[in-house]
Amino acid sequence: MRECYYLRLDDACPTWHRERWLRVLDLLSDRGVIPLIAVVPDNRDPDLVHQKPDPGFWDQVKTWQGAGWVLGLHGYQHRLQKRPRGLVPRNAYGEWAGEDPEHQRETMRRAWALVRQQGWLPSWWVAPAHNMDRGTLQALESETSIRNISDGWTRRPYRRWGFVWLPQQLGQPRRMGGGFWTICLHPNMMSGDDFDRLKTWLKKRPPLGQWNEVLAAAHDYGFEDGIMHGIWALRHRVTSALKAVL
Ligand SMILES: [Zn+2]
Repeated sequence: MRECYYLRLDDACPTWHRERWLRVLDLLSDRGVIPLIAVVPDNRDPDLVHQKPDPGFWDQVKTWQGAGWVLGLHGYQHRLQKRPRGLVPRNAYGEWAGEDPEHQRETMRRAWALVRQQGWLPSWWVAPAHNMDRGTLQALESETSIRNISDGWTRRPYRRWGFVWLPQQLGQPRRMGGGFWTICLHPNMMSGDDFDRLKTWLKKRPPLGQWNEVLAAAHDYGFEDGIMHGIWALRHRVTSALKAVL
């Protein structure tokens, strides 16, 4: 299987850490990387307040869109609370999983109306804290035009439940061997060391995936994907439990 990497940048919103974001974006565009930018339409999470609201933020989003960059809907308000782990069982908290499907549809309707009012058009779903369930997918399907999801622990993109899934496995840039790998970064929180690590990784010219190749590369979800998902889920459970104990 070929090896290729995608970059995803989470938590863009008007109270972003603008300097850090622009530093990452400059670094990526210098190397010809087009990231998926996950934008929160109505942030209410105090952890994402790094600066006073940037009055130019939504124009910035539209500029990215105009330049052909890839935008993701990162939930609605990023209010994280205790929840069932959902389809990608990373966290027992989030914004969506476990909520009544009708309520999820209503929330999605509000999110989508706001997005349209703000004048941008996301084509990917990026669930805050990876937290979502089948009700969230139904809400996406009925209330939005989004049919792509950035999440999951497989090695390759797949089709499942009416969506194309590009797996998102890594939290730091590193080489993994054959597979489609998405590295998720949080520019608001990036330290000098994180920038250096990204810079060094990019200098070695890792093979980059193209966004328009994902659909063609997607297979129907199968046995191999289920095994990969199971192994990563188990590993995640064990490392989380160890972290809690140590
Ligand atoms: Zn987030």
